[in-house]
Amino acid sequence: NNSDLNIYKDYHREAAELYHHILVNTQLGEEALDYLHGRGLTDDLIEEFQLGYAPAKKLLLPFFDEHQPDYQKLRKSGLFVELKDGQLSDRFRERVMFPICNAAGQVIAFSGRLLHKNETQPKYLNSPETELFNKRDILFNFDKAKNAVRNEKSIILFEGFMDVLAAYRSGVKNGVASMGTSLTEQQVYSLARVSKKLSICYDGDQPGQDATKRALELLGSLNRFELSVISLPEKLDPDEYVGKYGEEKFYERVHSNLESELAFYLRYYEQGRNLDNEHDQLAYIDDVLKKLAQSNDPIERDLYLNRLAQRFNLDKAMLETQLTDLRSALQ
Ligand code: ATP
Ligand code: MN
Ligand code: MN
Ligand code: MN
Repeated sequence: NNSDLNIYKDYHREAAELYHHILVNTQLGEEALDYLHGRGLTDDLIEEFQLGYAPAKKLLLPFFDEHQPDYQKLRKSGLFVELKDGQLSDRFRERVMFPICNAAGQVIAFSGRLLHKNETQPKYLNSPETELFNKRDILFNFDKAKNAVRNEKSIILFEGFMDVLAAYRSGVKNGVASMGTSLTEQQVYSLARVSKKLSICYDGDQPGQDATKRALELLGSLNRFELSVISLPEKLDPDEYVGKYGEEKFYERVHSNLESELAFYLRYYEQGRNLDNEHDQLAYIDDVLKKLAQSNDPIERDLYLNRLAQRFNLDKAMLETQLTDLRSALQ
């Protein structure tokens, strides 16, 4: 019920404040603060996103203990784990804390990043699903991004928290990230409510490119967006790109290097293929024609058909016949 939800929200607000205080004001947070500075985050940004640090020792439990808490609610808040003896203990330890907010900007969950590489633990640990937090519904930074859409007229999907932050400090404030899983239908509906234009800027590595394709398919099925892709060179992710080429270059790229859906697929179909090899060539042409058949823009179809004919020295009329057949099969 509603008053329970408010209590959980209070817990999260207090936890966020505490983690943040530890990061910016205490010795316990020093190493984490150096880490974040080293990754290019300024104090202003750390403030604005209320980033924090969960130290190795128990922090939240002793803090809540002082305020005569309702242990049943603490247990269900997601902030703690239950030990074998039923005792509660802080869920997040030695992690940089990213508060996750709902659309109203209230903290409802956390994701914590390991400060030190550790083979036995996941790099990012999210809060579990709770009455407050359904990770299929939530996008990191959606609360701020939905306001930035008014200026930018578009929204950008990233893979990770650090990518959203790297974009943000580059002046690209309309970025969101899904919670370490593939994009869900619920998230897509939230996006559709705030923006007609949507760009995908996932990591330049193969998993990122595969995820881009999946996201385009899901977003395309809704038929509500003007979609584009922002691709990055050298398998970089946005955060690495900003680190290597700078904030201005990233800002520029986002504003001037939008790739159409089709242009993305052409690049995607080419990956891992040797187009001098006949077998690969035929498979590529087949993929491209099937994708072109889905386009409802005659000019776009004609443009890419011309390119295909020229590039592989094929008869355009023959390609056109094939495309017509493919399109009638789709009806
Ligand atoms: P960083 O730059 O901090 O190393 P990243 O964002 O580049 O992180 P990726 O490996 O590209 O990390 O993963 C993208 C996103 O997927 C992360 O931001 C995080 O939300 C999620 N993620 C990554 N690893 C895990 C994990 N082990 N468990 C849960 N979520 C994860
Ligand atoms: Mn990745
Ligand atoms: Mn990444
Ligand atoms: Mn990264």
